[in-house]
Amino acid sequence: MAVSFELLAVDAGTGARRGRLTTPHGVVETPAFMPVGTQGTVKALTWDEVWATGARLCLANTYHLFLRPGADVVEALGGLHGFTSWPGGFLTDSGGFQVFSLEGLRKVGDDGVEFQSHHDGSYHTLTPERSIRVQEQLGADIIMCFDDVAGWGVDEARLRQATERSLVWARRCRDSHVTDQALFGIVQGGFDEGLRRTSAAGMVELDLPGYALGGLSVGEPKEVMNEVLAYAPGLLPTDKPRYLMGVGWPEDIVEAVAAGCDLFDCVLPTRLGRTACALTAEGRVNLRNLQYERDDGPLDPQCDCATCARHSRGYLRHLVKANEILGARLLTYHNLAFYQRLTADLRAAIECGTFGTWLSAWRGRGVTWAGASPTATP
Ligand SMILES: [Zn+2]
Repeated sequence: MAVSFELLAVDAGTGARRGRLTTPHGVVETPAFMPVGTQGTVKALTWDEVWATGARLCLANTYHLFLRPGADVVEALGGLHGFTSWPGGFLTDSGGFQVFSLEGLRKVGDDGVEFQSHHDGSYHTLTPERSIRVQEQLGADIIMCFDDVAGWGVDEARLRQATERSLVWARRCRDSHVTDQALFGIVQGGFDEGLRRTSAAGMVELDLPGYALGGLSVGEPKEVMNEVLAYAPGLLPTDKPRYLMGVGWPEDIVEAVAAGCDLFDCVLPTRLGRTACALTAEGRVNLRNLQYERDDGPLDPQCDCATCARHSRGYLRHLVKANEILGARLLTYHNLAFYQRLTADLRAAIECGTFGTWLSAWRGRGVTWAGASPTATP
């Protein structure tokens, strides 16, 4: 197996984990946050800049690359690593989540999903086997099982169907997978503890090298997600990485680490960076606000990133107001550096045995970053 995971320390009080994921493209210290490179690019940054933020594992979206430029093209240009020149690790999602987000443009059956491209309306089919083949062509270090994603607020019959179908599809993914890329399973079951348990038990039986919790952060209230996080990570093997998909705000990541999760991805830091919003130690800073016009202080006094070391809030506000590309670039860079520093702090606290104290101090500060969640777009 080309990808391996080592558990280095576990916080006795909470179960928070410090681990190390070794991939053919380097080591990823966990807990780790993956920047999202939807189209084979982390929007607004060069790959050298992504590296400089501290990221070592990035996510790319199968759905988007499958439609454009096509998996054959990426494969011909050396797979994702040759194509993009990113020296770190890549993880591809299965395309499932995006396809299920195409309300009205898709038809789901037991074999797979027929859907229409959001570019030109052309018809395509993704099955478990096809998703795996496409992900093998893309060549990421870690690939994901194709799953049936039930959203927030669906009835029990639909949730049960999606859970059972995801298990059948995971077996088909495993049986058709021929490379040494690490194939991770995805536990579904929505917000029903019984279904989550059924899903986790079935996935663990497949003996895959890592597992994700899917179907969270799909529009549910935060308390509902936290209820699932209270038991779901514990249903997974301790010696394998646990990936919480699509999460989240800084406070969500801290609570999920405390619950025993290791890997995260989210579009938030990059999307907010393109909409004038910075995530700082004190909360969200919206640079469109007039109060920053003559502010000569750094964006985040506690940050040592290249943006904060060099530029004032006043200058960043000017770039944003003038719609200059540099504004989006500098804010995206800072936001990703902020997430990387947060995960580095979490790792250090778990490693030193001080995570409990760290967590109490963090909760005591009571800073929250969440606002309206960004809607998932295909
Ligand atoms: Zn910064």
